[in-house]
Amino acid sequence: MFSSFAKRTTKVWRLFLKIKYLCELILEMSEKPHKAGFVSIIGKPNVGKSTLMNQMVGERLSIITSKAQTTRHRIFGIISGEDFQIVYSDTPGIIAPQYELHRSMMRFVNSSLEDADVILLVTDIYEKHEENEILSRVEKTDVPIIMLLNKIDQAKGTQVVDKIAYWKELVNVKEIIPISALEGLGISDVFDKIIEHLPEHPPYFPKDQLTDKSERFFAAEIIREKIFQNYKKEVPYSTEVVVEAFKEEEDIIRIRAEIYVERKSQKGIIIGKEGKALKKVGIEARETMEAFFGKQIFLETYVKVAEEWRKKEIHLNRFGYKQ
Ligand code: GDP
Ligand code: MG
Repeated sequence: MFSSFAKRTTKVWRLFLKIKYLCELILEMSEKPHKAGFVSIIGKPNVGKSTLMNQMVGERLSIITSKAQTTRHRIFGIISGEDFQIVYSDTPGIIAPQYELHRSMMRFVNSSLEDADVILLVTDIYEKHEENEILSRVEKTDVPIIMLLNKIDQAKGTQVVDKIAYWKELVNVKEIIPISALEGLGISDVFDKIIEHLPEHPPYFPKDQLTDKSERFFAAEIIREKIFQNYKKEVPYSTEVVVEAFKEEEDIIRIRAEIYVERKSQKGIIIGKEGKALKKVGIEARETMEAFFGKQIFLETYVKVAEEWRKKEIHLNRFGYKQ
């Protein structure tokens, strides 16, 4: 009688312990710290920054990278998991003339060195120390730096090992990871290292968000990209695009965009003889948009003059450049 009571008590006790263990496990899992932070990708033009960002964030944002060359705004690429969120920024400014490029790059680098939680410093197997003015600044920052040696798919013999030794000698960075952004080699090592360095922080953006910018923004940027590709000299720099309407229907998106230039003469250039130049821009923009949004696009474009918009606060505010 007594022993069966004891047995039952033991059983209940065991069950209790099991439940307690499970509860603790669930609690522990839910308390796993969330990490989040900003990761800046910096480096000389053509080393593979945009290709890398593409790899890290995913194909859908490829447009960001291909048009990064003409980017005036800073765009984020966001990737989230259950317990992490990484917000990448790619470096803008390649088509710009040398001095302008350097100025804008250095501005970006300077702000990265202050804001970022982690810096990805991209080099490739060809780059030499003296070619890169970023390096001297980088060493002075407290932000953790992960140096990436890209394009190892093109390396021969001991080139990778030699180059890592070369950089270790010249630059004060703790980690150098060999990668091929193009072929996806070493990308998971980069990801692990970033997570290691990321601070504990709640997410900055909703978990399903891929970028901080709206669809209208991308539509405008695509048109701007085509303008950069189709016109010369200062015309693209004098142009701004505003998407006035973005109406998504079941199987088509209807977009109305206004192209602003600074002078009347530029309006003529944008439109071109018999409207041919603008037509070409429209066709190319529509094709890229269809690939980007995955839907049929109906695009209307109008060219307008906003005298000297780059110098006037009222226009700059309207176009989203905060002073
Ligand atoms: P960014 O100017 O630093 O943004 O460089 P991009 O990402 O635009 O790349 C510049 C060029 O290098 C492009 O032609 C890429 O296809 C190429 N590239 C980038 N990463 C790799 C790589 O890992 N291997 C090879 N072979 N080429 C690469
Ligand atoms: Mg780029």
